[in-house]
Parts: sequence; C-alpha cells; structure tokens
Amino acid sequence: MNNKCSHFTGVHNITCNAGVAYADVAESVPDLNVVRPGVPGRVKSLPCIKERQGDCKCPAQSFPSAALLEAMQKQWIEDGRKRRAAIKAVLDETGGDNCRSGVLWCPVCDRGEMRWRVDGFGNIYAKCAQPKCVLIVE
Ligand SMILES: [Zn+2]
Repeated sequence: MNNKCSHFTGVHNITCNAGVAYADVAESVPDLNVVRPGVPGRVKSLPCIKERQGDCKCPAQSFPSAALLEAMQKQWIEDGRKRRAAIKAVLDETGGDNCRSGVLWCPVCDRGEMRWRVDGFGNIYAKCAQPKCVLIVE
C-alpha cells in the first residue's frame, strides 16, 4: 500500500478515485491478448505505482505520508486483534461445530451484543451492534 497512489483503484477500473482515466496517464504497449477496460494493451508504466512510474505524470498523484502509513498499519493490527478475539469467542461457543448462530456479549468492546453465525463450511460471520467494532464476513 505504501507504493501506490492514494487514489489508485486498480486498472480494471476506467478511472481512479480522483477521476483520472488510467488510459490518459499510463504508457502502454499494445497487446491484443490483454484486455483491460481502463488501459488499452499491456501497461508499461503507470504513475500510480512508484516502481512503475517511468516517465508517466499524473496531476492528481498523491502517495500516502509516512504518518498515514503508520496509522494504517496500526489500524490493520488492531483490526486483526479484534477479529481474532471475535473468532475465538465464536469458536469457544460452538466448540467447532458448523451451522450454528447466536448472540454473544461482544468480547472486543464489552459494550454490546455481537451476532454471529457459522455456515456449513465453517465460515464465520460476526457483527457487533456497536459502530466501528467488529465485523467479520469471511
Ligand atoms: Zn463490540
């Protein structure tokens, strides 16, 4: 994530989040075997990715700051902690059985109910009633 422009949405899209068309800023090598809706041909250089910038320029290019990256990494670690706590609580409740559902007091925030479900494949879904708390959709 640290090597991509903040507006980058992937070249399978026509434009980035800043409204710039990838085809307008990418340097491409024509290749009929590659079909991309946003960029005709094979992408040679793209200003959205540091390692692939080449001589490409984009008026909206904006890479995340070191402080933002650090905050994003902390959030990612915290989200993982919440997720593991919720999954553990669900597995403790089911004993590993599938096809179960229920409601637990949220093990993450301890301020509301967490609805959960385990499908027939063992995928766990869980959502706390508190906003910005745990949400698991496997
Ligand atoms: Zn919660």
